[in-house]
Amino acid sequence: MMIPLAVPNLTGREKEYLNNCIDTTYVSSVGEYVTRLENMVAEETESRYAVATSSGTTGLHAMLTAVGVKAGELVIVPTFTFIASANAVAHCGATPWLMDISTDDWCMDVSIVRRELERNCTVQGSRVIHNATGRRVAAIMPVYTLGNIPDMEAFRAIAAEYHLPLVVDAACAIGATHRGENFGRLADASVISFNGNKTITCGGGGMVVGNDEELMSRIRHLTTTARVGAEYDFDIVGFNYRMTNIQAAVGCAQMERLKEFVDRKREIRRFYASGLGNLKDAGISFFPETSGSSCWFSGIVLQKDRSLEDVRRLSAKLREQGIESRTFWKPVHLQKPYGDAPHSLTGVAESLWDRIVTLPCSTGITDEELKCVVTIVREEIVGGR
Ligand SMILES: *Cc1c(COP(=O)(O)O)cnc(C)c1O
Repeated sequence: MMIPLAVPNLTGREKEYLNNCIDTTYVSSVGEYVTRLENMVAEETESRYAVATSSGTTGLHAMLTAVGVKAGELVIVPTFTFIASANAVAHCGATPWLMDISTDDWCMDVSIVRRELERNCTVQGSRVIHNATGRRVAAIMPVYTLGNIPDMEAFRAIAAEYHLPLVVDAACAIGATHRGENFGRLADASVISFNGNKTITCGGGGMVVGNDEELMSRIRHLTTTARVGAEYDFDIVGFNYRMTNIQAAVGCAQMERLKEFVDRKREIRRFYASGLGNLKDAGISFFPETSGSSCWFSGIVLQKDRSLEDVRRLSAKLREQGIESRTFWKPVHLQKPYGDAPHSLTGVAESLWDRIVTLPCSTGITDEELKCVVTIVREEIVGGR
């Protein structure tokens, strides 16, 4: 018996809603659950509009396309993220400009973004040009790492000053708030993922949320093949990025339990921080939690002199004792497809990522299992010294 890292919790009305899809034959990209899920997510994120998509990645691609990201341009993104953030930029024919992160929240460091725009870019009319490459900077896209929301007021101020769209990869952040505010007003648009390891899952799926009517209707148009009217007329090159009613049926049942799930995620993080708190003496630290964080994943960061080999060794030992754990995101600038992408690094992501150990954090984990993880991790780390 393994205690898994992060598995879906499907003990609500998922089966009932899925059966309803089959019984009514509404299994495809039209159906009551798609609309219902959009309404639920819009309400939850305090956003006026929500557009369901086939995945988080396709939602990101549609959102970036809709704010005008074009081939040959640059999009400012953090290097410490899941590779899909960079891939969505590349799908537009653009290139990610990779920025380092802050140690406080593991999100893109707003002071680096400001400094880079000031020092290494030129404003030509309404265009921001990156001096070294001559490319236009087309957008800023922070990532809500672990469900931590960074200083969005500061990002909004920079975006306004440079007339750049501010969009967010909020893939793992459903349930997070920032100074009492939800996603709606924090950026021009944000994308949530419903992949299997996220807090809320549809099996796979995504959702773009935002308040700008024109932008959000462009996103809906793009994701639904850009059809105009009831016949076979299309006005731009669109995408088939629709969510199916089957995916949405699962999502609706999941959303009914959002508060319970996020509460549990936060409890799990606190449980590890208190249960393993004494490991701080050994130089171990914990995943950062901003106020309002949705605490998507939890785990520990090994001592400064440790590396990936130590993470792998610890994971192997935990596995022997029935506990699944893993490494975490490898920075984008170290990935093969993005080795040549422009980057502005301070060393934070590089010195952090290879010491991260994610620990079991499924919403269905029991207190007994959490205690078991704490006991065994402590034994392995203290005993292994
Ligand atoms: C999960 C995730 C994605 C990708 O979402 P998919 O639904 O799997 O396409 C993108 N960015 C981040 C930060 C993620 O955690």
